[in-house]
Amino acid sequence: MCEFCSEHGQDNRWYLNPENFSDKLLEDPKRAKTIEKLVGWGIDYYVDFTSRVTEMVNWPVIGKLVKKAVDRIAPKEHGGQVVSLEDSLQLLEYARDFVLLPCACRRLVSHKQEMACLNFGPVKDLMLRYVPGEPIEELTLDEARKLVRDFDRRGYFHQVLYAKIPFPICICNCEERYCTSLKQRFANGVEVALYKGHDVCKVDAERCKECESPWCASRCVFGAISYNPERGGVEVDASRCFGCGLCRGACVHDALSLVPREMVPQAAGKW
Ligand code: SF4
Ligand code: SF4
Repeated sequence: MCEFCSEHGQDNRWYLNPENFSDKLLEDPKRAKTIEKLVGWGIDYYVDFTSRVTEMVNWPVIGKLVKKAVDRIAPKEHGGQVVSLEDSLQLLEYARDFVLLPCACRRLVSHKQEMACLNFGPVKDLMLRYVPGEPIEELTLDEARKLVRDFDRRGYFHQVLYAKIPFPICICNCEERYCTSLKQRFANGVEVALYKGHDVCKVDAERCKECESPWCASRCVFGAISYNPERGGVEVDASRCFGCGLCRGACVHDALSLVPREMVPQAAGKW
């Protein structure tokens, strides 16, 4: 169980606790302000802000202080945690007012406009109020479910973003080359930018048929799958696995599954 679940999960994963989606949480003026700021900045400002923080984290001396501040503030204010397809679909059940927005990270890296951020809750109204010029696509729950499944098939991993924990506002559908949270964690050492998910992958050695080029490994953006020539199959390094579950979709032999992180000693308690 991660720190968010201990505090906000009520014996479940924090983002699967329906109470955390309640509009009552918007009565907290600090939370309302955080969400307004995030949306009101607009995607261009967000892109600019993110690039500046990334730059500052790498500055000599001051960079360490900036990183400390991010480590302290981000976990409470705004951050993400990897979620499997199943958990993504389940959490959508508790959300309302789905809107698809352009991905800020893709815009940041390549000026690419891809509608890949699935937002919900108060975001729709705030976008229309603060940044009416941004493209915005309203979706039904069924359309939102279909979209997440399609992104999963394409190999996009999902993360749930919160605006002041424990209030989820978005499922991002991410790619390694663009994802700012992933880069912050791996390139800049800001671990709190992207928490690992609640599951890890397990290989069924009997079923793993030693594909000539293991598709499962090429799907893993976290580098957790490697080929073991002695055993003649792949292995998962649970300490590197983020529990996105994407590798499963690549295996026609059904050799991969997700198990709760806490059941795997190598990964338990590591977020
Ligand atoms: S795709 Fe399946 S069978 Fe092939 S290497 Fe990966 S786990 Fe093994
Ligand atoms: S091993 Fe599978 S579940 Fe784990 S991070 Fe890689 S793709 Fe995701």
